[in-house]
Amino acid sequence: MKLSIKNVTKTYPNGVKAINGISLEIQAGMFGLLGPNGAGKSSLMRTIATLQFPDSGSIEFNDLDILADKTEFRRQLGYLPQDFGVYPKESAESLLNYFAILKGLSSRKDRQMMVDRVIDLTNLQDARRNRVSTFSGGMKQRFGIAQLLLNEPKVIIVDEPTAGLDPAERSRFLNVLRSIGTDNIVIFSTHLVEDVRELCRDMAIINKGTVLAQVSPKHATEQLQGKIWETRLGESQWSGLEGIATKLSDRYDDDNEQVNRLHFEGQATDDFVPVSPKLEDFYFLTLNQA
Ligand code: ADP
Repeated sequence: MKLSIKNVTKTYPNGVKAINGISLEIQAGMFGLLGPNGAGKSSLMRTIATLQFPDSGSIEFNDLDILADKTEFRRQLGYLPQDFGVYPKESAESLLNYFAILKGLSSRKDRQMMVDRVIDLTNLQDARRNRVSTFSGGMKQRFGIAQLLLNEPKVIIVDEPTAGLDPAERSRFLNVLRSIGTDNIVIFSTHLVEDVRELCRDMAIINKGTVLAQVSPKHATEQLQGKIWETRLGESQWSGLEGIATKLSDRYDDDNEQVNRLHFEGQATDDFVPVSPKLEDFYFLTLNQA
């Protein structure tokens, strides 16, 4: 199973070039699309979901040209937009039953089985008879996943699903994605590095409509081994390292003293303490070097 995106570009009528030549090869499993706000993540996802047409480039799912045959692709697609919209005062199971009818599941028995299955998969058993309008943010997101699973999609696209969720809801939501992401392609966007670290086998960092890196989170941190340091020296004191040391982030220690975190390839002095690389370091370094 493979989704191939080649040289896709998209400029909106207002002149914003949201996608500027993106190419990605995406295999089965969880794929994280990581980038700051405005990077072009939603634009790319809407384009893959065939909700908007690119100006140039191609997108193929296995041998299917999805831009030429979007009806066929949509049969195999589940898309959860950033804002899922209106939540009627209906129970989760009656709404799912209704969506299942719309999706063509005409046998009552098949429908019941499928509704039970997606409720189980998204861990909504206890809330199945409650109105969706009363759900918390995390439950609404899981309900969104439940409805898109009804037609057993092979490609699932979820736009910034963890935005606004509290830590417990976020963790429950990521567990649901984890359980559905093994056989399918699941692409989800986020600006949270932790989401990707916890979940994804592969990821791309995008900014200003371009791919800055496509790498597995594991490989990303491995390649920074021995190159990440912490120092209490101020930025002005890195004389001689200028141009080769990159500041990635900082923190404040127990004495409220600033500790800078740097990428530096070379022989460090005693003022530099080696630390284990984190995916966040790779993210900041990639954005910084672009
Ligand atoms: P992200 O999802 O990474 O935050 P978006 O794809 O939403 O990024 O936005 C990328 C850029 O395109 C931004 O500058 C945004 O303002 C612009 N943009 C997004 N959608 C539209 C649109 N429908 N019309 C015009 N500009 C848009």
